[in-house]
Amino acid sequence: MPITQPGLTANYVAGEWQSGDACEKLPVTDPATGETLGAVPDSGRADVDRAVAAAVAAFPAWRRTPVAERARVLFRLKALLDQHHDELAISLSREHGKNVAETWGEVQRGIENVEHAAGMPTLMMGDALEDVARDVDCATWRQPIGVFAVITPYNFPVMIPLWFWPYAVAAGNTVVLKPSEQDPLTHQRVVELAEQAGLPAGVLNVVHGRQATVAALIDHPDVAGVSFVGSSQVAKIIYERAALAGKRVQALGGAKNHMIVLPDADPEMVADAVVGSVFGSAGQRCLAGSVVVGVGDAYGPMREGILDGAASLKVGRGLDDGVDMGPVISRAHRDRVNGFIDEGERDGARLLMDGRRLHVPGYPEGHWVGPTVFEDVTPAMPIGREEVFGPVAGLARAPNLEAALEMLAASRYGNAASIFTNSGRAAREFRYRAGISMIGINIGVAAPMAFFPFGGTRNSFYGDLKAQGRDAVSFFTDQRVVISRW
Ligand code: NAD
Repeated sequence: MPITQPGLTANYVAGEWQSGDACEKLPVTDPATGETLGAVPDSGRADVDRAVAAAVAAFPAWRRTPVAERARVLFRLKALLDQHHDELAISLSREHGKNVAETWGEVQRGIENVEHAAGMPTLMMGDALEDVARDVDCATWRQPIGVFAVITPYNFPVMIPLWFWPYAVAAGNTVVLKPSEQDPLTHQRVVELAEQAGLPAGVLNVVHGRQATVAALIDHPDVAGVSFVGSSQVAKIIYERAALAGKRVQALGGAKNHMIVLPDADPEMVADAVVGSVFGSAGQRCLAGSVVVGVGDAYGPMREGILDGAASLKVGRGLDDGVDMGPVISRAHRDRVNGFIDEGERDGARLLMDGRRLHVPGYPEGHWVGPTVFEDVTPAMPIGREEVFGPVAGLARAPNLEAALEMLAASRYGNAASIFTNSGRAAREFRYRAGISMIGINIGVAAPMAFFPFGGTRNSFYGDLKAQGRDAVSFFTDQRVVISRW
């Protein structure tokens, strides 16, 4: 039953919206106005137990539902998401803060995963081979596994859950989702639409909460596998804890993405791509550019282009017309980003543009950080090494591509990296040697589409099978191999 009135956010268990046992409610606020939009229960073990029990109970019948019927639910969900696209984008802008063009794009990326997962009848086919020995045949069958836990971050609260649960359920599994407690309202609407599309009770369940909720979910003996996206520190904890319990786990973590600009790159294209990457979503993207390395003579024009582009950005409430960059998610996060800027200054990086103490007229309670640009950033400084997750560019210089690649190699993160050049040879060398999972060549945000794998390396990813694409099908199924002689 839909519960779309504002403020009422509940767990979704066995097809029912339940307020749960939690006494504590976690507020959800509009980051531009500070207005309270709702609250979610900080669910405990009993709530998690109920959600997992519902998923366990729903599994046998859902698994036996023909795969084409399971896929048809996703086709209907895709149509409903298209129909409600604008409404979802506006709701998402209100609770997250980014502008409506950005949230519209996020919803679109989510829909593309629903579309891709709807191809499950062909995606989960097995292989077969006759005469592997005399009169012996061999075949693989992909089967669903059971109950999966999906735990997601605040920065893409509609899209990231859709990296996982549509694939899991299309393959015949059931799911318990724990969305970010900071902006869970719009995905709640997606869950209502899934119900409307005919997803049976118990196939997808939602429990809200924080650390203790996640721990109860991961430790639950009936949870077979865990998909996680969030900061590296938490991703590592999740990976270790789930692996120790013998579960399959994919844990996507944080990032410190480098962008390398060669002297033969088109300066205008570089400025557009870098400014969009660093300041889009107020820097709160795991694919956001963070350190921008100008090689040789590229540095001067690159620096000017980025400063001009950053100065032209209008900061404000994402729902207002003409706004390029919204607030960051919370007061605590604004203070954290400002802390990195303070530290960068103390460490001797040159602050060329300072976004601290920004006031946006009409929004005194907003969590504002304006575009910020440093130069002379080095890997020895936290501003050049740690994930800031805010609208801060760190410019650096390198004498040649070799030196720029060394900077990349020194980072403990390995999510995304981009090169800007007109040289096919330099681009090939970069792709070959960068050692980073998502690579942009003349692209500022190297975001793989739904049919390609999404995830990093080093401390940006713990596991082996990534999100989206064929990896998602492998993660949510097990291959049974049958060898037969008649
Ligand atoms: P976060 O790690 O604080 O939280 C992620 C999820 O884990 C939330 O649901 C949260 O409630 C839960 N959680 C928080 N602390 C926990 C703990 N100690 N134990 C168990 N669960 C815990 O991340 P966030 O601030 O919501 O999101 C931003 C981070 O996510 C950034 O580091 C960003 O780079 C990363 N991210 C990565 C990708 C990727 O593809 N690699 C994509 C999006 C975001």
